[in-house]
Amino acid sequence: MRPPRVLTIAGSDSGGGAGIQADLKAMLANGVHGMSVLTAITAQNSLGVQGAWELPAEQVRAQFRSVVDDIGVDAVKTGMLASESMVRVVAELLRTLPDGVPVVVDPVSVSKHGDPLLAADAMEAVRSDIVPLATVLTPNLTELGPVSGVEQRTVEDRELAAKELLHAGAAWVLVKGGHDEGDTSVDVLHGPGVRRAYSAARADNRHTHGTGCTLASTIASYVARGYDVPAAVGAAKEYVTGAIEAGFALGDGIGPVDHAW
Ligand code: PLP
Repeated sequence: MRPPRVLTIAGSDSGGGAGIQADLKAMLANGVHGMSVLTAITAQNSLGVQGAWELPAEQVRAQFRSVVDDIGVDAVKTGMLASESMVRVVAELLRTLPDGVPVVVDPVSVSKHGDPLLAADAMEAVRSDIVPLATVLTPNLTELGPVSGVEQRTVEDRELAAKELLHAGAAWVLVKGGHDEGDTSVDVLHGPGVRRAYSAARADNRHTHGTGCTLASTIASYVARGYDVPAAVGAAKEYVTGAIEAGFALGDGIGPVDHAW
């Protein structure tokens, strides 16, 4: 039987740990057919990002049309969008999706090594053009302030930021607490009349490259399989927690999460 079809619109990580490589592995592991539209390629390894190149808009549009017009999609995930002009191209493409196709947006801005994956002036375009199209938006605590426009000083500011993002048109907002201190990692899902926390014991493992990409792709996979958003987030949190626990060393730096755990 044909598996559900999930498309990632994101950047390539040559080291295979994050980006579209992580997305496609997570999709395979979670029972869907993965497809990709590349927005950028990076020269990247366990030590960081050594180079990044955005693809021409024409190539991005062509990839998207090839996939959507023939194969079709049951869910979309977006990741590295690189620049303001790429954000606008991707928004324009997402608006051509058939009604009801869910879109999971990971508002990626910097890598764990601090390398920029989105131009400094582009987050405003993400807020105005992409957030209103998001079925689920998955900011981490670094991205939450810039994507919402709500400065983050206290824990209460997270709630305000989530409300602002819902007001801006995201159907659901998952605020990821993985960058917090403490023994547990708590993600909080905000949605229509819903506020639900998902906790997991924090794995004592520094090999966490690709965590955000993996979580968002897995949410998209479960939504494509027919789970509602709270259930998809629960299944994805469980999967990513296992993948982090099994993360392994590669090269001299931060290794990837393991999709074959
Ligand atoms: N490289 C690419 C192409 C990505 O899309 C991402 C995250 O979305 C990263 C690197 C960063 O991954 P991490 O922060 O997990 O190291």
